Amino acid sequence: IHKNDLAGQEGQNSPGGLPPRAGLFVVSAPSGAGKTTLCTRMLKLFPGLSYSISHTTRPPRGNEKDGVDYFFITPEVFRERIQKNAWAEWAKVHDNYYGTSRAFITERLEKGNPLLLDIDVQGARQIRKTYPRAVTVFINAPSMAVLEARLRKRGTDSDVVIARRLENAAREMADLPLYDHVIVNDDLDTAAGKMAAIIEKFKGGAV
Ligand code: 5GP
Repeated sequence: IHKNDLAGQEGQNSPGGLPPRAGLFVVSAPSGAGKTTLCTRMLKLFPGLSYSISHTTRPPRGNEKDGVDYFFITPEVFRERIQKNAWAEWAKVHDNYYGTSRAFITERLEKGNPLLLDIDVQGARQIRKTYPRAVTVFINAPSMAVLEARLRKRGTDSDVVIARRLENAAREMADLPLYDHVIVNDDLDTAAGKMAAIIEKFKGGAV
């Protein structure tokens, strides 16, 4: 992988006034599949890649920071922005609202920076419609038992929350065939290698 081969530059410099080209990546996974770890690795590996910061109405967890991990907003503000059509996609997950700002996506892609969207299956469905050339990746745990063990080890969620996340995971599996790529995260390095190959291949793709 050539670290300096930034996506988008090719498109920005191309003749004919073509719009900037940058890949839009959608990554979904049940909580505990290792999505955050994998995404963080990809951001280090591809300097041109940025992470779409979602908005959510859930409270911050651990040492999550506003404007870094999420923009934490109230349900009232969230609903206002639904009315204003400000979300490229939004969903209610585990009783909280989550959304990706339309302006955020446009701004990043116009700059030629490929973007990583860490969103759930409902959001992925909406993004597929709006941006048909988005590349969708589903990260899965090797089994439900492994998923449960990882959630417990993380120690951030109560039993009730873990149970709800596992139920959700089972439901999300139904959408698995809709994804362009499925990565089973058994061994982290192997999974990271597969994800890097996908990003390398599509990071300059127009959406
Ligand atoms: P968590 O609360 O663990 O950070 O995220 C819970 C779920 O919400 C994850 O499956 C995550 O992918 C999803 N999620 C996070 N941000 C967004 C978003 O902007 N839109 C949608 N549709 N899902 C999101």
